[in-house]
Amino acid sequence: MKNSAIILAGGRGRRMGSDIAKQYLKLGDKPVLWYALDTFERSFVDEIVLVCQEGGEEYCEKEIVERYGFRKVIAVVPGGLERYHSVRNGLEVLSDCRYVFIHDGARPFVTDYVLGRCLHYVEKYRAAVAAVRAKDTVKLENGDGFIDQSPDRDKVWLIQTPQVFEYELIRDCYDKLIRDEMRLKEAGVRVTDDTMVAKMYADVDAKLVESSYDNLKITEPGDLILAEAILHAQRA
Ligand code: C5P
Repeated sequence: MKNSAIILAGGRGRRMGSDIAKQYLKLGDKPVLWYALDTFERSFVDEIVLVCQEGGEEYCEKEIVERYGFRKVIAVVPGGLERYHSVRNGLEVLSDCRYVFIHDGARPFVTDYVLGRCLHYVEKYRAAVAAVRAKDTVKLENGDGFIDQSPDRDKVWLIQTPQVFEYELIRDCYDKLIRDEMRLKEAGVRVTDDTMVAKMYADVDAKLVESSYDNLKITEPGDLILAEAILHAQRA
């Protein structure tokens, strides 16, 4: 059975304030998306499914997969409205898969080391996720602009990707999520990552795998400037 990756590039990137989706913006001399693909391509992962914006499959196939010669990409599939729709579309095309690595294409600096640590822990605990400890104190709001709770900073982690799961486990959870979608919407539950799907539908707690602050997600223009600096430092 295979280790597979789903790389997500199906977002619109509205917060970037650019007409070009953030995954195609240039970082150094390559598109942002190239970096994560390159790391997975050179890793122990056997195959990659690339999820892109609906209607952008051909562009992605030609301008990214073919142009840069990513041989492990077995499919380019359309994403959906929400991140979790995109993940589900990726999960659906995998077969004979043991572990699946779900990764944001907007995180260019994932490392081979973190992939290896995630594999180690998913074999033990069924679910593992790259994360870093919060540097700042974190507060939970009361919904009205005031502080409600002050979680113990030593226990606060910022969740990144890859998020890694036994394939059958997460596939089953996503099937349940889709059947449950209306109820969640009505209850105002926002599904923003995959570990919460594993928790909600299989009661599986993901193991936190200490990653790096460099594994940032490019979300707004300032992040791209930071990413350029990280790239520069890596190449120095
Ligand atoms: O929107 P956000 O920055 O949280 O997106 C994280 C990752 O998920 C990005 O790589 C983005 O391209 C992807 N995404 C997706 N489909 C969506 C929304 C986001 O593939 N509908």
